[in-house]
Amino acid sequence: MSGHELRWNPLLGCWIIVAGHRKERPWHSTFCPFCPGGPETQGEWNVLALPNRYPALSLTPPGVDKGEKPFTRGEALGVCEVIVETPSHEGDFQNIPLEQVAEYILLLGERTRKIASNSAIEYVMPFKNKGVSIGVSLTHPHSQIYAFPFIPPRISREIASAIEYRKIYGGNIFEDIVRMELLESKRTVYINDGFVLLIPFYAMWPYEMHIYPSSDVKLLYELDKDSASLLADAIRVATGVYEELFGSEYAYMMIFHQAPVKRVNEEYRLHVEFYTPHLSRDRLKYAAGVEWGAWVFTYDGVPEDRARELREAATRIIGKLDSLGRIP
Ligand SMILES: [Zn+2]
Ligand SMILES: [Zn+2]
Repeated sequence: MSGHELRWNPLLGCWIIVAGHRKERPWHSTFCPFCPGGPETQGEWNVLALPNRYPALSLTPPGVDKGEKPFTRGEALGVCEVIVETPSHEGDFQNIPLEQVAEYILLLGERTRKIASNSAIEYVMPFKNKGVSIGVSLTHPHSQIYAFPFIPPRISREIASAIEYRKIYGGNIFEDIVRMELLESKRTVYINDGFVLLIPFYAMWPYEMHIYPSSDVKLLYELDKDSASLLADAIRVATGVYEELFGSEYAYMMIFHQAPVKRVNEEYRLHVEFYTPHLSRDRLKYAAGVEWGAWVFTYDGVPEDRARELREAATRIIGKLDSLGRIP
C-alpha cells in the first residue's frame, strides 16, 4: 500500500488526504532551503515558486483501488507548491517593500492560471501558516499553494450560501457584507481604494480578519498590477497589526479564497481570511471540544471591542508602512 490517497468520509461528505510518505519531513534542519544560493534558489528573484518537496497531492499520484462503499478512495491528485515570498530569511509582509508583495500576489495569480490549465484541477488555494505555536519552524517567509481535484467544503458552503442569499434577498452577499461593514463602521480596521480589512461580524477566532474587495473580482489572476498593489497593501497592514499586537512570536494562518477555476460562480468574490489563535501576546485560543465536536465556535468577548484594538494598532503602523489607504 502506498499510503498516499484520498479517503472519503461518508458521514461528513468530505475528502481526507492520506499522505503516509510525509511522516518523516526533515523540518528541523539548520540549512534554510529558501535562502538564495541553495540548490533550488539560484539566480535573481524577489519571489519564487517551487514544487513542494513533500507533496501531499501530485499530478502523478499512485493508482488506487477505488474501494467499496462506505470506504471509497480516490487518487491523491493535485498540486502542492511553495512560494518563497522574499530572499530575506526573516520578517513578514510588512517588512517586504510594497512592490515586492504585489509581485507575490501577481505570482499567485500566474500560478493559479497555470495550475488551473490542468483538466483535473477544480480549485487552487494559496495560503500561509506562520508561527512556531501553529507548528511552523521554518522561519524564511513562505506561503504554499494547494490545488485540489474537487471544490473544498468550506468553499462549496460559501458558494451555496451566496446562491441562497441571492434567491432570498436578491443581492450579492459579498457586496452586501462590504456595504454594511462600511455603513456600520464598527469592525472595519483599514481601507484603501480596492479593499477593506475588517474583523467580520461572524468572527470565529478572537482577532480574525478578512480582506474583501470593493469590486467584482473572483480569481487572483484577474488582478492587474494596481489592484495587486492594493491587495498587497491591505495584507501588509493585516500582518503588521498582528506583529504590533502580539510581538515578534506571533502566529496566524492566511487563506486566499478565490472562485473555483472550472466552475466559476457569478456570486463569488476573491477574499483573504486571517485566523490567529492569539487571545493576547502569550495566550492562545485552542479550537477544542465545542469547536471540533460541533463545529460551533464560541467567541470570548465581542468582535467590535477587538476591532477597536486592531484599528488602534493599524493607526500606529500605517505611517511606518507607507500605506496607500486610511483608517475608516
Ligand atoms: Zn532562509
Ligand atoms: Zn471565505
